[in-house]
Amino acid sequence: MAVAELAVLRLKAERDKSLKAGHPWVFSGAIDSIKGTAQAGDTVLVRNDSGQALGLAAYSPHSQIAARLWTSDSTQDINADFLRQRLKAAIARRGPLSPEQGMRLVHAESDYLPGLIVDRYADTVVTQILSAGAEKWRDSIHDILLGELQPKVLVERSDVDVRPLEGLESRIATHHGKAEPAEINEHGVRYFVDVMQGHKTGFYLDQSANRLLLQQLARGKRVLNACCYTGGFSHAAALGGASHITSVDSSGQALDNARRIAEHNGHADKHTWVEADVFEFLRGERDRAKQYDLIVLDPPKFAPTAKHVDKAARAYKDINLLGMKLLAAGGDLLSFSCSAGVSDDLFYKILAGSARDARADMQVLARLTAHHDHPATLHFPEGHYLKGLHLRKW
Ligand code: SAH
Repeated sequence: MAVAELAVLRLKAERDKSLKAGHPWVFSGAIDSIKGTAQAGDTVLVRNDSGQALGLAAYSPHSQIAARLWTSDSTQDINADFLRQRLKAAIARRGPLSPEQGMRLVHAESDYLPGLIVDRYADTVVTQILSAGAEKWRDSIHDILLGELQPKVLVERSDVDVRPLEGLESRIATHHGKAEPAEINEHGVRYFVDVMQGHKTGFYLDQSANRLLLQQLARGKRVLNACCYTGGFSHAAALGGASHITSVDSSGQALDNARRIAEHNGHADKHTWVEADVFEFLRGERDRAKQYDLIVLDPPKFAPTAKHVDKAARAYKDINLLGMKLLAAGGDLLSFSCSAGVSDDLFYKILAGSARDARADMQVLARLTAHHDHPATLHFPEGHYLKGLHLRKW
């Protein structure tokens, strides 16, 4: 559609700074007026209060994030060709893909495709559509992915809790082929990924590099994996030569899959799987005076948004306090937060509080983050949500 035909979204005075700095969101409070008609997902031309064109964005009238910028170049046309170029660029930048690999191919805003996630698990591709703009182009996006990647299966997992905020309904659909658990190989561990019912798109691809780190630390160690899901860190520890791995999760279904994966990899005898609330389990282990040499704490998002931060900070403090108590001298703790509302600095401070109350001297060996297929751009810090610390007890 020619630029002249697009509705114009005009910003209030002084509200153009973040877009000019490269951040892709326009919040509803920054909008002065909309001239012309625009439905959810339509492309609008964004102008500042003095009329300067700032770019083309997808309009989302139901959301506080009222528009997400496709491009700062207002002369472009947002159509299937535009999306094809963006998708091809994101995929090409991942480098060569091996047939059994699991990898995020598109990380939404951080790959200049607002509201779109694309993950690949061997021959299966899974999309997740988070915003009204990506929703509008859903059919084109699926057609392009089928053409470019030629997967055996294409599944959509648009069943995320942010969709209602965009006025979108939940959707799980198979667009091509027959969905079955996909088998991937990550650093020598073979996983089944349940793309229809698993968390996220089926697997926590973001922890891939951290699972490799754990594998390298595990030889001869007694390992505790708290909030294990399908046992990602547990299987990595087994392959790395851990003496025994105890894994806890509240989801019986995730643990069933974890057991199946352990059997498939031939190391079922190394594991104890416990279905329990993580806090209750850790307190029980503390009361039983148990000790571990290597502990992973990877709890769910305690703070989905900034307003949950105080409560989340207490939960992170408690879980880490218990983890530090269970750690033997010289032992390592890999502790994570995937809460966007908890910054790196806050996470660091919370863990310092845990160490003080646990009377544990903890060294920081490394700050950890998501694998590089989950990039964040410098102008979009929200893309950096996963933070972790590799600590060693003195
Ligand atoms: N480390 C995992 C991902 C963990 S996701 C991996 O590499 O694959 C967080 C997990 O915490 C989920 O599996 C969820 O079922 C579990 N969980 C959520 N609340 C919990 C609780 N109160 N106690 C135990 N596990 C919990």
